[in-house]
Amino acid sequence: MVKSRVDVLVLNSNETITLDSRDGETGLGIVDNGGVAINQGKIVLAASTELLERKFRARRTIDAEDEVILPGFVDPHTHLVFAEAREAEFQLRIAGASYMDVLRKGGGIIETVNRTRQASSESLFQSGMERLDTCLESGSTTVEIKSGYGLREDDEFKILRTVQRLKMYHPCNIVPTFMGAHAVPPGESSSEYVHGVINEMLPQVSQVGLAEFCDVFCERGAFDSIESKKILGKAAKLGLKLKIHADQFTDSGGAEVANELHAISADHLVHSPTKQLGKMTKTEVTPVLLPSSSQSVLAGENADARGMLALGLPVALGTDFSPSNWMLGQLTVAALASRELRMSASEIIRGITINAARAIGLEKRVGSLHAGKHADLVTLRAPNHRWIGYTYGERLVDNVLIEGELVVQDGRRIL
Ligand SMILES: [Zn+2]
Repeated sequence: MVKSRVDVLVLNSNETITLDSRDGETGLGIVDNGGVAINQGKIVLAASTELLERKFRARRTIDAEDEVILPGFVDPHTHLVFAEAREAEFQLRIAGASYMDVLRKGGGIIETVNRTRQASSESLFQSGMERLDTCLESGSTTVEIKSGYGLREDDEFKILRTVQRLKMYHPCNIVPTFMGAHAVPPGESSSEYVHGVINEMLPQVSQVGLAEFCDVFCERGAFDSIESKKILGKAAKLGLKLKIHADQFTDSGGAEVANELHAISADHLVHSPTKQLGKMTKTEVTPVLLPSSSQSVLAGENADARGMLALGLPVALGTDFSPSNWMLGQLTVAALASRELRMSASEIIRGITINAARAIGLEKRVGSLHAGKHADLVTLRAPNHRWIGYTYGERLVDNVLIEGELVVQDGRRIL
């Protein structure tokens, strides 16, 4: 047989997790001793090493012996662009202060807003690049990034332009989200601020094309469900896709707003009523759970992942990286999802790949090793997929490829 020429072959893995079929015990589409053929940045075929070697010859071969091959991880929820950090506030939380108490006293998000307003675009870009390198070296190839630490037009735009620059210069796929309604800025009433978001910021964001999604922090002390609905309703009219921070600290009606407006995702859902979760099976809102965020607020409360999975919902997982929850790796999220949410390895793998892709509307392009999709993949030094969630993820990532380019080798960014 004449062999077809492809750009890259990744071969000899213990397991190749394609997520391209719901067959078998795990529903992960596992190919034993498999690999992937890649051409022009796209997946050609995920199959056994033997078949791939028979069908193809490649310009470059990557050996994944003793490893597991997976689609590159998708992080559907980060607040990655902001200045400095808030480690002192974390000490206050350890001593007993609640997250919302700190915010009401002008700390929390507001403290980061003040620092981010003072920061130069260049410093935001540089710290953004470094943080994205950590995402990439932790196996994430697609990362959603929200604005929300400017809270006035110029500074929200400074953040969104930084996100656009990161998108241009970093190998990760970046999905930008406008989240002007992250907190009410000091000295303004929420109605005044909501008016500005709807009538000034949103039309500009959509006109300049700075964001694909609009998100709102729907919570007591931030924006209520009526305000959230107004903002997201306007965003939808302007052609933006919708996300919502829903019911993180209290049942604030966030899940209901997500269902009414058919948001792409509703995130957190720690206090959402079961009835609204049930409705998501019809409205096709993807639930995004953020167990590290729940852990960082130290309230000991978690979303009901088991209940959502029992309803048949495609539960996605994200980091919620922010100054109040400093973690960038989806394998660490996996460790928390198994321990805090009682999710199995298979459920977690779907949560950080195909379901996470669904939560940002990219399920047709990334999130599985389906022929024709972007050749974004990661190889892990692990004997089998059950090591995801079992370990905390340290030194597990070996290679990362984005659109067929090897960008991480031996766990370090090389391109
Ligand atoms: Zn968040």
